Amino acid sequence: MSVNIYYENDTNPKLLADKRICVLGYGSQGNAHSRNLADSGLNVVVGLREGSKTFDKVKSQGLEPVEITAAIKSADIICFLLPDTAQPAVYKQYVEPNIKPGAAMLFAHGFNLHYGQIIPKPENDVIMVAPKGPGKLVRDLYEQGQGVPCLCAVAQDASGQAKDLALAYAWGIGGARAGVIETTFEEETETDLFGEQAVLCGGLSALMKAGFETLVEAGYAPEMAYFECIHETKLIIDLIYQGGLKKMRHFISETAKYGDITRGPRVVPPEAKQEMRRILDEIQDGRFAREWVLENQANLPVYHALLRKDEKHQMEQVGAQLRGMMKWLGE
Ligand code: NAD
Ligand code: MG
Ligand code: MG
Ligand code: MG
Ligand code: MG
Repeated sequence: MSVNIYYENDTNPKLLADKRICVLGYGSQGNAHSRNLADSGLNVVVGLREGSKTFDKVKSQGLEPVEITAAIKSADIICFLLPDTAQPAVYKQYVEPNIKPGAAMLFAHGFNLHYGQIIPKPENDVIMVAPKGPGKLVRDLYEQGQGVPCLCAVAQDASGQAKDLALAYAWGIGGARAGVIETTFEEETETDLFGEQAVLCGGLSALMKAGFETLVEAGYAPEMAYFECIHETKLIIDLIYQGGLKKMRHFISETAKYGDITRGPRVVPPEAKQEMRRILDEIQDGRFAREWVLENQANLPVYHALLRKDEKHQMEQVGAQLRGMMKWLGE
């Protein structure tokens, strides 16, 4: 399956010329999007709740803070750059009663739409522009004349122009300079959840922890185990980020390379893939979403219990101590 990729020449920024964009949330993405949109000459305001502590910060960064209800009432595009867990309540309380007919709702992740936590009105466009990078990178690259590749998708096309609107927005934040990959809310949501659960966050932290425990249980110094199984992953990941497995294998020793290709598959055997498949099934049939929504409604008991356990793990104590020897790390 090949995907459609769009660049600046494929976008029509004029579509945004007379539109007012309201950004909700001034965190990682909200900060970067609103500043980039403003620097692209677009009409953007940041919608804030009354008494918000962010008011002064928004002003000091040259943007216009507007009380959230007024901001929504006058907006042509409402950007949900709030934490995913906060979006449904903000939609119910502020957006649903005040959104203009014909206005568009824009998301940077599809969870709430895909799993029915936000049910938009039929007269509104629902689009996604999701940068494949953190807000800071979205902002820094924009200032350098570059951009972070983005995903775009349309969940609801009331205007008949929803996709062009998403592409114009991607132009506004600089993403079209790098390329905008067309996807669907379903594909973005399910692959995002799977990636973070099976590989990036869940898989990787479990792998590092298991390696650390194996060495410590065999009598090796925890400091050695930490360096070998946790700390040094960054060096390897940076090489893969820049040039794939090929570049990584070019820079490691011949011994490391032979160990990699002969032992790696034993650590991730076919049974691990079967478990990955079950994790994907739970994402696809909504079980994970239901579990996470209910966990939030119950005030996060499992979340807190499991996080507490990891915070107390020896690897975290040893890691903190070793980072004390590398003060330059945080800089
Ligand atoms: P964030 O946590 O960095 O920022 C959220 C902002 O919303 C904060 O300023 C917070 O003060 C504010 N906020 C929290 N609760 C609120 C409420 N109830 N009402 C109003 N404001 C509230 O969030 P983020 O990481 O920028 O994520 C925003 C969206 O972007 C999410 O959908 C996320 O999945 C998506 N996304 C994030 C990244 C990333 O790298 N961070 C990348 C791609 C997509
Ligand atoms: Mg992701
Ligand atoms: Mg995610
Ligand atoms: Mg080593
Ligand atoms: Mg070595």
